[in-house]
Amino acid sequence: PSLMYDINLKPPSIHWDDIGGQEPVKLALRRAVSMNLESPEILSRFFDRPPKGFLLYGPPGCSKTMAAQAMATESGLNFFAVKGAELLNMYVGESERAVRRLFQRAREVSPSMIFFDEIDSIAGQRAGFSSGGASSSHGGSHGGVNVLTTLLNEMDGFEALHGVVVLAATNRPQALDPALLRPGRFDDLIYVSPPNEDARRVIFQKEAKKRRMDPDVDVDRLAKETEGYSGAEIKGICASAGSAAYDRLRLRRTEGEEGDGDKDAVIRMADLEQAIR
Ligand code: ATP
Repeated sequence: PSLMYDINLKPPSIHWDDIGGQEPVKLALRRAVSMNLESPEILSRFFDRPPKGFLLYGPPGCSKTMAAQAMATESGLNFFAVKGAELLNMYVGESERAVRRLFQRAREVSPSMIFFDEIDSIAGQRAGFSSGGASSSHGGSHGGVNVLTTLLNEMDGFEALHGVVVLAATNRPQALDPALLRPGRFDDLIYVSPPNEDARRVIFQKEAKKRRMDPDVDVDRLAKETEGYSGAEIKGICASAGSAAYDRLRLRRTEGEEGDGDKDAVIRMADLEQAIR
């Protein structure tokens, strides 16, 4: 039977510059790409054991997925991406085959990278296993255990993995099975923090370019006022400010005002501040 799962070889067109801030993350991922192509002799000068798997962890909506996509675009490595949950939605046995096939394909077309997004959904499964409840022929907890074991086996085949960078992301690192974090597996941990003020300004600027904003919209002030917000939340603020501004235009129309209304309609600073509140 054919696998339900489809390998994605097309790199998404996200670039480093699309990500505001996160310089340490960009550095770590650029280094990972470079090490992947480095000669073992050079690597042995600097590393006892070069890291093999890279784990992006941090709160949701803070550009982990984006960073993996930018790494794919900018490095030119062949890119394989899979979401943890997709692997669990397969029938017993299929998800293990899918993982083996994934590593096999990645080796065939190396240099390449494999990205496991939301890895906690497969790698938090062993704990759940003892509490029972494998309910169907679907992956469920049985599938999770086997998928995780298959993944660990593939990562342990070190020599064969040369030329393949393995990357994973999670916003629940504490839920991961510790076996996954052992040396030779995901042993390079990269923290992806909420955006700092500079990064928030960049995100607001990018969002502003996609819409019509009043020239007096002050992105510096918006960046200051959104301490602790994720990138995804900042996008949400801009989206809801857009809705409010559009509602204002609709209201004007129903009140029968013509002409200038439509042309002048833009998102205002007040819409953005209201959205933050
Ligand atoms: P999750 O853990 O929920 O999967 P994530 O950390 O993978 O989240 P992304 O999906 O990469 O987050 O980011 C969510 C959205 O937020 C992105 O599509 C992007 O538009 C925006 N975003 C987050 N951080 C940044 C940033 N530093 N620069 C630009 N955009 C950002």
